[in-house]
Amino acid sequence: MNRIIYVPHDLLNKNYGALKLADKKNDLIVLVESAQTVNGKKWHSQRLQFIISSARHFAQELTESGYQVVYQKSATTLAGLIEVGKEHKIDKFLTTYPTSFRRLESFKDFPITFVDNDFFLTPMAQFTEWAKAQKSFKMESFYRQQRVKLNVLMDGKNPLGGEWNYDHENRNPVPKGYKSHELSAFTFDDIDKEVASEVSKLDTWGNSENKYWATTRKQALKRLAEFIKYNFEKFGAYEDAMPINNWSVNHSAISPYLNNGLLHPLEVVDAAVKKFEEGEIPLASCEGFIRQIIGWREYVNGMYWFLGDDYRNENDLAANRKLLPLFDDPSKTKMNCLSTIVGEIQENAWTHHIPRLMVLSNLANLTGVTPSEFLDWMRRVFVDATDWVMVPNVIGMGLHADAGIMMTKPYISGGSYISKMGQYCKGCVYDPKLRVGEKACPFTTLYWNYLDEHQDKFNKNHRMFQQLNGLKRLKDLDEVRIQAKQFLKQLSAGEI
Ligand SMILES: Cc1cc2nc3c(=O)[nH]c(=O)nc-3n(C[C@H](O)[C@H](O)[C@H](O)COP(=O)(O)OP(=O)(O)OC[C@H]3O[C@@H](n4cnc5c(N)ncnc54)[C@H](O)[C@@H]3O)c2cc1C
Ligand code: SF4
Repeated sequence: MNRIIYVPHDLLNKNYGALKLADKKNDLIVLVESAQTVNGKKWHSQRLQFIISSARHFAQELTESGYQVVYQKSATTLAGLIEVGKEHKIDKFLTTYPTSFRRLESFKDFPITFVDNDFFLTPMAQFTEWAKAQKSFKMESFYRQQRVKLNVLMDGKNPLGGEWNYDHENRNPVPKGYKSHELSAFTFDDIDKEVASEVSKLDTWGNSENKYWATTRKQALKRLAEFIKYNFEKFGAYEDAMPINNWSVNHSAISPYLNNGLLHPLEVVDAAVKKFEEGEIPLASCEGFIRQIIGWREYVNGMYWFLGDDYRNENDLAANRKLLPLFDDPSKTKMNCLSTIVGEIQENAWTHHIPRLMVLSNLANLTGVTPSEFLDWMRRVFVDATDWVMVPNVIGMGLHADAGIMMTKPYISGGSYISKMGQYCKGCVYDPKLRVGEKACPFTTLYWNYLDEHQDKFNKNHRMFQQLNGLKRLKDLDEVRIQAKQFLKQLSAGEI
């Protein structure tokens, strides 16, 4: 053997990246389980199990198909590669271009060659060319270019159906009593059990019983097929809905596999388009889903690299509050939306996009939680957390900490949005309509207080005109300010 091909835990696919060049006779395939990463944070137990078990299964599958494979446990990734290199007397290393700045930096002085990362559909040079030509980085304009370039849902030069975006038909609350198809639980094998036992000895967070997260490609394909068969049809309609007792609603729950290589975006797009062409899926649902895969996912990865490593430190609103206790312990709040959602994350290491954006990030933004603390929490608790996707979503989209580089206005709301799209408010001690008084909803109070505090930042932003106009009309702003102060104190103390 004369070359080591290093396969990181998030690029587990033999048809892409460096592995597609592997020669079974002459290449040694190496995966490294780094103690620094495993012990580095108080991870959600299921997140750790998913990452480690998927990689160990992948190593086994490669071995079974004739590759020469070493699964090395070491202090760090680099230490592991050096150890295996020495043992096998190999000094040539090849890998896929890393998915994070940290990994890239760790290879700075290491003689390793990179192969382009084709786990995405957009080569970096192509994204950079697009970004450099923009005045503002609107995802919508990138997405339209993607539709044309990839020829997805197109009718010649025009978008299929005549429109690029069918959001006006999507994004409804679910009707009373609605239940989507529930994710089926997987059966796990000896590798999973061994990993679960190892992880149980670490200091982790959350429920340790993994039921829903696939650790093999076969299971990941099953999850994709399940979505396409049962939940795709109403994906668009209930994309933003937050029902109670229906934690994944009509979402695909495939982000972990797109992020660790068990699924490739191209096969997801193909499966969706094929089903749509059979005629059972509304165009609005199909377009909404395709936009997530070829639009948002590609855009977020492109922006991560385009904006650079320092972007994670942006804090334009000078937020400096410590992480609220309720994020780590949902029993520390009476706010029904938060205790339910954080409770679901504790249970399953996942919640869909709208709770992440309009409840969790919204609260962190309205209360001024330090962006790096919130980012760190999200990275610890989500099964699909990955640096390239977390950083832009949290800093740019969730917290508006980047002065509007990514999003032209902050995603903030009072209780009314949560009440409209979710089913939490009826069971809550607070009233989403009230901003002052004993039953005032903290979201509603803090929303007005946020606009008041940051109006100088936003008053030149025409997209904030309506909201600031609403602020001017408030007759009880003084009381709102007093109530907000009280809420902020109580939230920091874990008392409301
Ligand atoms: C504050 C915040 C943090 C987030 N952190 C993560 C994260 O760590 N990992 C992660 O994969 N996604 C993250 N997202 C994006 C999105 O919420 C998840 O991808 C999605 O909820 C995963 O569920 P799903 O697979 O059912 O997605 P679906 O709703 O079924 O969408 C299909 C796929 O589209 C892609 N996608 C959709 N929205 C986005 C987006 N905004 N950015 C990138 N890809 C997107 C994902 O790959 C997803 O699997 C975050 C969003 C916010 C607002
Ligand atoms: S009333 Fe406010 S705090 Fe309670 S569930 Fe609704 S939005 Fe959340």
